[in-house]
Amino acid sequence: MIMAILNYSGMFLPYALIRRHGMKNIRLAIKSDGSIRVSADTSVSLDNIEKFLIEKINWIEKHRVIPSQVPELCDNMTLYLFGEAFVLKITKLHEESVNIINNVILTGLPQPENIAAVERLLISEIAAKGREIFSGLLKEFLGSADWRGTPPALSIKLLSSKWGHYSKAKHEIMINIAVCGLPFDLARYLAAHETAHLIIGNHQKEFYALGEKLLPGFKKFDRELSKYRPDLWKNIISAYNKPI
Ligand SMILES: [Zn+2]
Repeated sequence: MIMAILNYSGMFLPYALIRRHGMKNIRLAIKSDGSIRVSADTSVSLDNIEKFLIEKINWIEKHRVIPSQVPELCDNMTLYLFGEAFVLKITKLHEESVNIINNVILTGLPQPENIAAVERLLISEIAAKGREIFSGLLKEFLGSADWRGTPPALSIKLLSSKWGHYSKAKHEIMINIAVCGLPFDLARYLAAHETAHLIIGNHQKEFYALGEKLLPGFKKFDRELSKYRPDLWKNIISAYNKPI
């Protein structure tokens, strides 16, 4: 069984595809949890399966369990990750999955009305994206700082009040996952800021001089960042995505 997604006039319909030898017709079923199951012979092309599903779209819509609205993180909400807009779609699916396709974050789970479960899924996906971006940024600034030592460990997590932190004891840079909801320039500034802390612990004059060397306009970015609060969803969700 594989998970496939039908993209039909802006609508994303995930379905499980089962291939069976010797089937004459394509078979369509909707499970009690609202998930869609399609069985077809191995010789039937994906194009023909999609054509078949499009023909049946009215029937599917009529019989599918429509997930109840998630009160806070509701469906069709715009999320901003590093300044890029993504539409969040939440679907009822048998198994948990997150797929990002053409700026749509398609989140499927058995209980879409469970906000905590939706949040947990999204947070792990956002953390993975953040890790990818920050690994690249740190590499860039460690190079500019001419850092010859062991590169620090990196973790992206929920921090209650800080944007980021360098722990000398653990030799680890911790980035608040809320940073993923900032415009890219400010996320980049955070990477430069924590890199500078590898060399200078406090916010003394030398720290800002080093920061300016790593990223011109360092202090300007620092002032810009102070307009935001390190609160995850307030940064990421469209309704809040502006500086306070
Ligand atoms: Zn600092």
